[in-house]
Amino acid sequence: MNKQRLMDLELKVNTLIEEDGKWNEYKINELFPPADVKRIKDLPTGSVNDQPPKTAREHLHIELKNWIWTSPRSPKIRMFFWRAISGALTVSDRLRTRGINIDTTCHLCQQGTESICHILFNCPTALHLLSEVDFKLPTNGFSMSLEENMSYVLDLMEDHSIPLTTRRAIPWFYWNIWKNRNAILYSGTQEPSSIIMNRAVEEAEIWAEVNKSEPQQPIVRTAGICLDNRWHPPYHEMLKCNLHANWRNSELHSGGAWIARDHRGNVRFHAREAFTNSPNRMIAELRCITWAMQSLADLRIKEVVIASDHPAVIEAILKPTLWPRLRSFTGYINRLRGTFNICDMELEHPKGNSIARDISKSVTREGRFQSYLAMGEPSWLHDRLQRESRTDI
Ligand SMILES: [Zn+2]
Repeated sequence: MNKQRLMDLELKVNTLIEEDGKWNEYKINELFPPADVKRIKDLPTGSVNDQPPKTAREHLHIELKNWIWTSPRSPKIRMFFWRAISGALTVSDRLRTRGINIDTTCHLCQQGTESICHILFNCPTALHLLSEVDFKLPTNGFSMSLEENMSYVLDLMEDHSIPLTTRRAIPWFYWNIWKNRNAILYSGTQEPSSIIMNRAVEEAEIWAEVNKSEPQQPIVRTAGICLDNRWHPPYHEMLKCNLHANWRNSELHSGGAWIARDHRGNVRFHAREAFTNSPNRMIAELRCITWAMQSLADLRIKEVVIASDHPAVIEAILKPTLWPRLRSFTGYINRLRGTFNICDMELEHPKGNSIARDISKSVTREGRFQSYLAMGEPSWLHDRLQRESRTDI
């Protein structure tokens, strides 16, 4: 097994362990060839989770994904970065991990193994394209780690010593590196590097211009994630429903709460509910989401953002195939989403979600098991709600 494969394998392993500490059979069988499946299953799950370097890497992985969703760029580009970091771009080395026996040599340079990391960062073709523009390479060149390289690129986009035009175009550089690879591979065409990269700059400029004149495009917010810890108001004419299930253990009731606010931070409704015991926190949160959506539908609300602070739950809803055991919940939630005109899912930072968290805690802590739905805000949270509604100024 070469180094890149081993690194990929290590990275994946951390995402393959369920909350109960057991291997996720479905994911293992889907992602790995039979020989690797056996090797993975022989690993004790506890020791895999306990190794600090892997946890750090996993953490970076999540941070990168969060960053990608918060950044103001086109959905196309965000989806591309999301797929790159999730290992969901189809390259030959990925196909091989799925048991498809093909040559994994890079078709562009005939040198490295064609991994996502290679295509985007290490392949001479990518580096040649970047040499056409004012792109600052890492001092020691790109590494063999997809996460490290992606992290470098994301930092570069925040580096104010680089001209804005270049900084803004960086995601488009990568999008075009990827498109160029596909053009060569699938249609056998190759444009001059300068044309490709100039087009990247132009596309970035056009998108920035269009986005500036239309700042309130709800579509752009699909599956947004707010990495900073403030509460973020929804777009005009939408409601944002923050929710939380306060799960304690599998024996006890969970408390649930949701609070729906408009773009000015005014509370339209809030509600509280006690749920019978759930086996884990994810299921409690999914039940809470189902309940909140049913309530919103009953109130004839049609445009809404559902905001949870549980990243895995958001992922399970948006990518149900990755969480097959939760499909009965996520399938139902996604059918419910279909009954709204807009029903975006958003990850809120726990601090930005603290009001929903506190209401849900009051259910269990203060034994308020009677459920209710009310217009307006809970009076005991008035001052905090006032403060949060000003956070966007
Ligand atoms: Zn190559």
